[in-house]
Amino acid sequence: MKVNINPIRDVRGGIVTFEGKQDLDAIKQIEELGLEFLTPLDVKGKITNTGEGFLVEAELSCQYQSSCNRCLECFTSTLEADFKEEYVCKDADTEDNCTVIKGDYLDLTEPLVEQVILSLPMKFICKEECRGFCSSCGANLNETECSCVDEPINPQFEKLKSLLNTKEVD
Ligand SMILES: [Zn+2]
Ligand SMILES: [Zn+2]
Repeated sequence: MKVNINPIRDVRGGIVTFEGKQDLDAIKQIEELGLEFLTPLDVKGKITNTGEGFLVEAELSCQYQSSCNRCLECFTSTLEADFKEEYVCKDADTEDNCTVIKGDYLDLTEPLVEQVILSLPMKFICKEECRGFCSSCGANLNETECSCVDEPINPQFEKLKSLLNTKEVD
């Protein structure tokens, strides 16, 4: 996604707003995470000429599909993230700092895609209250109740309890 900054190129304090879609083809599918992006990234933001450089502030959102880490069901969800980064490119700078600023344009493609990756949740859960699988019988607890709803009692603990009870009686 490229944004024209020509109107504020030499205007300290100048602001341009922008809105558009960034394709996520580069990371469309992240197989290790069972993740697929279903829509391009919606981007809405502004760029400010700070005098030093160009400050980009934007809101990002897109839809993705993944499988739940608890119940393994496939689900779709929305990823939302904020983006804030200042790009400074001085004559003396090495190329690195200038890769985003290209003449009259800021090329935000790479930074935006990077931000999406950084904003992915640590865990993909279909819904907050997802109950996942029963650890004893393996039933999907979102779909069914199993007969082992009561916490299975650790046999060792049971033994200990009976010892305590005996003591009390004594
Ligand atoms: Zn789930
Ligand atoms: Zn069970």
